[in-house]
Amino acid sequence: MSNVPKSTDANPAASNFVRGIIESDLASGHYAGRHDAQGQPLPQVITRFPPEPNGYLHIGHAKSICLNFGLARDFAGRCHLRFDDTNPEKEEQEYVDTIIDSVRWLGFDWQSDGREHLYYASDYFPKLYEMAQYLIRAGHAYVDSQTAEEMAANRGSFAEPGKNSPYRDRPAEESLDLFSRMKAGEFRDGQHILRAKIDMASPNMNLRDPAIYRIRHAHHHRTGDEWCIYPMYDYTHPISDALENISHSLCTLEFQDHRPFYDWVLERLAEGGYLQRPLPHQYEFARLNLTYAITSKRKLLQLVEEGIVDGWDDPRMPTIVGIRRRGYTPESLQLFCERIGVSKADSWIDMSILEGALRDDLDAKAPRATAVLNPLKLIIDNFPEGETVECSAPVHPHHPERGNRNFPISRELWIEAEDFMETPSKGYFRLFPGNKVRLRYGYVVECTGCDKDANGNVVAVHCNYFADSKSGTEGSANYKVKGNIHWVSTAHALQAEVRLYDRLFTDPQPDAGGRDFKAALNPDAKTVVSAYLEPGLAAALPEDRFQFERHGYFVADRVDSKPGKPVFNRIATLKDSWGK
Ligand code: ATP
Ligand code: MG
Repeated sequence: MSNVPKSTDANPAASNFVRGIIESDLASGHYAGRHDAQGQPLPQVITRFPPEPNGYLHIGHAKSICLNFGLARDFAGRCHLRFDDTNPEKEEQEYVDTIIDSVRWLGFDWQSDGREHLYYASDYFPKLYEMAQYLIRAGHAYVDSQTAEEMAANRGSFAEPGKNSPYRDRPAEESLDLFSRMKAGEFRDGQHILRAKIDMASPNMNLRDPAIYRIRHAHHHRTGDEWCIYPMYDYTHPISDALENISHSLCTLEFQDHRPFYDWVLERLAEGGYLQRPLPHQYEFARLNLTYAITSKRKLLQLVEEGIVDGWDDPRMPTIVGIRRRGYTPESLQLFCERIGVSKADSWIDMSILEGALRDDLDAKAPRATAVLNPLKLIIDNFPEGETVECSAPVHPHHPERGNRNFPISRELWIEAEDFMETPSKGYFRLFPGNKVRLRYGYVVECTGCDKDANGNVVAVHCNYFADSKSGTEGSANYKVKGNIHWVSTAHALQAEVRLYDRLFTDPQPDAGGRDFKAALNPDAKTVVSAYLEPGLAAALPEDRFQFERHGYFVADRVDSKPGKPVFNRIATLKDSWGK
């Protein structure tokens, strides 16, 4: 995990209760002295990130990834990437590939002690089956032959206890026989089910004889048609954790009520000698809710399928592939996750915190460049026709060692339309007839007037320049002007498509309380302009990031940029302009 910055105390406000738990486990030596099946010593902290390969990862998953891999890094442990692939119908290899890619891109890997710790729950199918047989033999599980309707009716409710299945006390031999015939494919889907035998009157519904195995005649993306029975998530998860010697199993709050069953499964199997102590422990943390975004896989799918966005990696999407294409850096996401911390209280994190992390990361790194997004022509009438003069500017204002960038000035330039007003408003210091401004890194000019079309729209601005005012020359000090505007030479500018992205929704909680999130779509979330850029930007490679002075942070789109012809995405503006 070499390219991951060490977390520091730079932001003590970000609390993380899991660290406290790990520290006390380390102090008590709870997980000390463990060895794996080959006799190799095991780290005391082993975490895992366990996605189901049924969709694209989103910013919420980034929190879980940074938490799990970050703890392993900080406590000299290791973190496993495990695919929880027990739902054959919903899972695909495409999702496995994009998840691997996203976790890597975020800056993490699963190498430790020279080994890859990439696992698939489906690899445990034989062991899970064997353990289920043990549970039946030990009287902890039975095959139920009720219909789904009967089972639902007998489950009871929060107010009422459930009723025991008439099959609950069938002999273990009979359950074992049925279970092996379920596996052999003798029954149709739903005809029988294997259930844990716990307590149909438990106030915790998850302990009312939860299902362990169901029949599904379905093709699995890894095991093919080998199995027609599949283990349930709540049964698979604790066992996978234990088989991988996970110490701290972190999941989101909705699994809190599942923890008693997690512990029940592990205890029964440890009693039977199938699992080693100390057993893993589950801890729950609050999921990330981000304002102006949605993080439900189902709703994100809807945005893609209905063509509201241009795919999973649309730069407006809160998916990791979307956030990456938008231009966010892995470091900015790690910084964001550190800043938001980890707690047990559900809350909403403001989008401005994500954008702030990006600005803080890129301000120090991104080379500066000039871009005119809404062009208006400026003609320097006293500049010799056909001539050019080289201007130069620092690549980064705080890093002179990074050198300069050069670009020519000539008689005709593009400037921002907003940098000229025929009749200036109060406090306006940029171009208006009679006013002087500096063309940044170039000359001081004095505005003389403008040309208009038949409708009265300004089509060109005129000015004269002062030949002894060039930035960086001695004469420049003699000119004191209040306005400083950017420009590019029309004959040399790189014309490029620039996509100005903004938040996808106008409502901070677009889907809260079951609201229709499509009613809150921001119509201005994507604006495409044809801009004029500093000529050197023609060399930008996909994923090169820049600060376009005065405009914000931009990236060369990783999909649509062509050699010599980059397309740029706005990642974020220079300042937070929302909520103002
Ligand atoms: P679903 O279960 O609906 O398919 P999921 O979001 O739970 O979706 P998983 O692939 O099961 O997706 O999630 C992998 C891990 O990421 C889990 O440990 C889960 O708790 C965690 N996770 C998912 N969403 C968030 C979130 N918004 N904030 C923090 N962690 C999350
Ligand atoms: Mg899940």
